[in-house]
Amino acid sequence: MTLVNENYLKLPGSYLFSQIAQKTSAFKAAHPQAKVISLGIGDVSQPLVPAVVQAMHQAADEMARPETFRGYGPEQGYAFLREAILQHDYLARHIDLQADEIFISDGAKSDVANFQEIFSSSCRVALQNPVYPVYLDTNVMAGRTGSFVEGIFEGVEYLPCTAENNFVPALPKHRADIVYLCSPNNPTGAALTRGDLQKWVDWAKENKAVILYDSAYEAFITQDDIPHSIYEIPGAKEVAVEFRSFSKTAGFTGTRCAYCVVPKQLMAYTAQSQAVALHGLWLRRQTTKFNGVPYIIQRAAQAVYTPQGQQEIKQNIALYMQNARVIVQALEKAGLQAFGGKNAPYIWLKTPKGLDSWAFFDKLLTQAHIVGTPGVGFGSCGEGYFRLTAFNTPLLTQEAAQRLARLQF
Ligand code: PLP
Repeated sequence: MTLVNENYLKLPGSYLFSQIAQKTSAFKAAHPQAKVISLGIGDVSQPLVPAVVQAMHQAADEMARPETFRGYGPEQGYAFLREAILQHDYLARHIDLQADEIFISDGAKSDVANFQEIFSSSCRVALQNPVYPVYLDTNVMAGRTGSFVEGIFEGVEYLPCTAENNFVPALPKHRADIVYLCSPNNPTGAALTRGDLQKWVDWAKENKAVILYDSAYEAFITQDDIPHSIYEIPGAKEVAVEFRSFSKTAGFTGTRCAYCVVPKQLMAYTAQSQAVALHGLWLRRQTTKFNGVPYIIQRAAQAVYTPQGQQEIKQNIALYMQNARVIVQALEKAGLQAFGGKNAPYIWLKTPKGLDSWAFFDKLLTQAHIVGTPGVGFGSCGEGYFRLTAFNTPLLTQEAAQRLARLQF
């Protein structure tokens, strides 16, 4: 008899997005004239920039000629892309890393989901609440949690992030070995400061813990004093892995390319307290289970770092951040309390008059024909909040903003 991994059975169904889709299609069927605008999507609306597309075309042509054709590439990524990342994202910010500490992948989702594999199943996990759900779900699948009771997994150290603490997580009260930090944050849009991160790095050093730092939205940071990389913090290379993605930075959500950084001095331990470099374990994991990102895609990602590529992607990022400002202004006009939208393409609002997240969803859909995401879908502390994204087109975002500004409660 084949037994299943019963940890999967602990997971509640992926209720959030199917519920949103169901409610939206029922509304559209009942109101065929309504022009429903989605500010719920976490996907980009702007196409790939010309520099990236040109590089893809060129690489496709190379694949057509015997002398430039490429088969299997290095699992960890081609040197040309790792070098470009090193130069532009790290050395240019005075962060001293080596190219072979950078691992190219097909997405930050895969990386943040897979990385937990190289830790013992006895490790205790801490994570922000609310947050991108992949961190928690993959640890549930791996058996690192107890059961799901009243919206909470037993054995997990949840770090509440609410307006009361400016969405900045406090250090864990109980033992934690792996900590996921997402900054700028999906969904709250909050970004951790240098001081916040220094506390986490110091705590991790003291507790021999590892920080898994997801900075998929670092390109959206506008405030000068917000770090783009955790390695801007002294000591971070000894305690942190960093995840980055070309998805939102350069419109690669469908093209798929990301990377993570695993510094060689980052250690975890055997049960006998012997230090083991995570770099070696991750290299082993990737070379065993992953066969690399396509050559064409890596050339496309490399083009992001050319002067033309940089100029073009920055225009798109500015466009999304302008959308964010338009949404925040509209919410404020409607008398709503809005957070985020300054260093992230996410706007997090407090639902008015004690409405719960789903009641607000219904109100927004029926009154303004706008779809957003109920905050509770990102964790129990998201109850009473709601997420809007800045990723739609400027035209539709402006139309949505006019409707938002007229909302009445
Ligand atoms: N990390 C965070 C915080 C995200 O919000 C997302 C996507 O929405 C990802 C990772 C996944 O990125 P990728 O498209 O590179 O898999």
